[in-house]
Amino acid sequence: MFVEVIVDVPAKQTDRPFDYRVPAALVPMVEIGSRVGVPFAGRVLQAFVIGIKSQTEVPANKIKDISEVLDPYPVLTPDLVELSEWMSHKYLCSRISCILAMIPSALKAKYERRLSVRPDVSISELTQSEQEIAAWVQAKKEITLEALLEQFAGSAGAIRRLIETDVLLEERMIKNRMKAKTQRMVFPAEDVELLRETLLHTSKQAARQRELLEYFMANPAPISLSELSAQLRVSTAVVQSLAEKGAVVVKDIEVLRDPYADRHFEPSKPLRLTEEQESVFTQMKKALQERERHSGTPILLHGVTGSGKTEVYLQIIAECLQRGEEAIVLVPEISLTPQMVERFKGRFGDRVAVLHSRLSGGERYDEWRKIRRRQAQVVVGARSAIFAPLEKLSLIIMDEEHESSYKQEETPKYHARDAALERARLQRAIVILGSATPSLESFRASVPLQKWSTDHPEDGQHVLRLELPHRVGNRPLPKVQVVDMRGELQSGNRSMFSRSLHKAIEERIERREQIVLMLNRRGFSTFVMCRSCGYVANCPHCDISLTYHRHTKHIRCHYCGYTERELEKCPSCDSPHIRYFGTGTQRVEEELVKLFPGIRVIRMDVDTTTEKGSHEKWLRKFGQKQADVLLGTQMIAKGLDFPDVTLVGVIAADTVLHLPDFRSAERTFQLLTQVAGRAGRHELPGEVIIQTYAPEHYSIELAKHHDYDSFARKELQLRHLRDYPPYCRLVLFTISHEKVQTALRFSEHLASVLKETLDMTAASQKERGALRYEVLGPVASPIPKLKDRYRFQCMVKYRGTGDVSSALKEALERCEEAAKSFQVQVATDVDPYILM
Ligand code: ADP
Ligand code: ZN
Ligand code: ZN
Repeated sequence: MFVEVIVDVPAKQTDRPFDYRVPAALVPMVEIGSRVGVPFAGRVLQAFVIGIKSQTEVPANKIKDISEVLDPYPVLTPDLVELSEWMSHKYLCSRISCILAMIPSALKAKYERRLSVRPDVSISELTQSEQEIAAWVQAKKEITLEALLEQFAGSAGAIRRLIETDVLLEERMIKNRMKAKTQRMVFPAEDVELLRETLLHTSKQAARQRELLEYFMANPAPISLSELSAQLRVSTAVVQSLAEKGAVVVKDIEVLRDPYADRHFEPSKPLRLTEEQESVFTQMKKALQERERHSGTPILLHGVTGSGKTEVYLQIIAECLQRGEEAIVLVPEISLTPQMVERFKGRFGDRVAVLHSRLSGGERYDEWRKIRRRQAQVVVGARSAIFAPLEKLSLIIMDEEHESSYKQEETPKYHARDAALERARLQRAIVILGSATPSLESFRASVPLQKWSTDHPEDGQHVLRLELPHRVGNRPLPKVQVVDMRGELQSGNRSMFSRSLHKAIEERIERREQIVLMLNRRGFSTFVMCRSCGYVANCPHCDISLTYHRHTKHIRCHYCGYTERELEKCPSCDSPHIRYFGTGTQRVEEELVKLFPGIRVIRMDVDTTTEKGSHEKWLRKFGQKQADVLLGTQMIAKGLDFPDVTLVGVIAADTVLHLPDFRSAERTFQLLTQVAGRAGRHELPGEVIIQTYAPEHYSIELAKHHDYDSFARKELQLRHLRDYPPYCRLVLFTISHEKVQTALRFSEHLASVLKETLDMTAASQKERGALRYEVLGPVASPIPKLKDRYRFQCMVKYRGTGDVSSALKEALERCEEAAKSFQVQVATDVDPYILM
């Protein structure tokens, strides 16, 4: 048997399958998706099996054997192996980077060099110091190079000689980063007679042993050693003596770390669906039943905040489990709160595995193994949970599908929505994209039920749109008031709170109701400017303003970490009037405390939530009404559901609008709608106050009226006019070099090669419908200098159904030589979300 593997080397030349032979002994253990060790360029490397075959083109004297199989089961399911091929093609990145993105970091190999003494060496022929070293290694049997160097510090030369002369043999081992956690268990002898007999032969003096034997006669079940010693206060020695007598067996058993072990989840029952929910649910159920026939229908669930989308998810998951199938629920990282987890664990208990980045490496590894061992059928998690190794996947739910955090910003720069649709195609699963403010990409691809004919286009381009236009129980959507901050300034109010917001806060404090205040962090960093000459403190390595950090009294670059002390006077004109501008959450907090003495504020931003579990801690405190105000950045806009919140304030709504990004209106609308949805979800009615310098902007005006449809129509028109996604697709190339000339010249070269390859592709694919494209640039990037490198951008804009990836890949390959020799870096981003 032969296998095709992808080796774990991040280089262009190795980004292809290599053939190996599987020795007979390993054949039963090798499957598609197995992780194996293979000899490669004189080392043993981790590799992943992507194909199995009975023949190979590699000549018999060249083909090598795989050296080991690293896990008891394949780490990738067959559909994930296929998905990795799609990903590397679509996102123009290496196959290995895609595969590594799919498995927990605990499984990313660590290579260790181990040394041992060659068995037939006669040590007496070596020098004194060499003998000492060899003898020590022999005593240890084998040892890592690091440990040996530590033991014989100063004898590095001798050690090297021993390795070069083959006295010490070197072996490279693949080690997992994470060990399975084990627990020491005590198993009593199965035969109670044996226990009784041992008791008879145990002297009266050994009272502890007798006690333990009596305990096991009464409780003949395995128990962990730690629990046993806690209960009976027996020492390990006592257990050990019984083990020697054969009355008990002590064994280490693998256990799974459960991050939620000490939490109790209130079991919940399905709610009786409302009429609207029922009709949505019926369509979903139908899609699930027909999934084999229709190869999975993607569904867009457009439901206002509080319309009961989550309840529908829970019931369709129940349906999926009923059919013996499995489900993935994707939730944006910041919405994956304990409240959210509770809703799923409460309904499905231990059948739920949770994957998110706040788990420790070990916890994540164990949740992953729980899935792999088929102990979990529902996976709830952030972006990368789309790669959960489920084999009977029939349902993928993506909540808040418009969220930009579904796009990964490091290689592989995939979008979880596209990965979900592709994975669903491979497993014939249905996909449900849920949102109160669907992305324009999804909205445009969607067709309402009335127009969805029985012979709907099975081209994977269309999505069935279902609507939940009302809140459960017909609770009204909150009243939204937009305050023009320019007017406030004109009437002499220089505070960051408008008079309306000020009054509303006062009222809530009086009525003991709660408040959520949101501040948009992006574009809101506190920059340093001279009021006399207009000088702005910029990072010397990046073309970007430095941010003031009040508590450390430093100014700092958010891109490269460059830090200097706060400025006493302007470096340009010596004026002392150098000030810190902008409003950070800290400043809002200070202002609140000043204006409303005694007010209790919980502040949530990147500074207060770095510690593990802090996120949960703050939310719990707020839920227990230990604070009046929850103040924070975008991270508080989603998923929170507190009954006593009756006021939501947005300090400045338009900060995002000024970013050079064609999605900024969409982002503003989404954010305002989301945050407004936090108010009045329960008995108490809610009020929302949005402060802005651009009240007439359509994104703010339409968010005020909760009018998604008008917003989508208007925004789609503009995108069409300006030729932006979803009417075309973008691929962004960012080129950087220390010298501005080199960066520019290479960018021009790349742009012309891109044009050439696309011309050729368009000509050869003519019959498949027109491929229209443009290569824009090179232009200086919006951040023209970063970490001392000058940056230029080329953008490919295209529409049509042709295969553009191959042309782009070819262009990159043709420029590779030049990039290498000039040490130019090229970053590729397909369907980019950040255009800087
Ligand atoms: P969404 O996910 O659309 O924001 P949720 O599923 O969180 O909405 O529902 C909002 C509130 O309505 C929740 O408190 C939920 O328990 C409640 N709810 C949902 N469906 C029903 C139903 N059929 N009957 C009663 N209450 C419901
Ligand atoms: Zn100045
Ligand atoms: Zn910098």
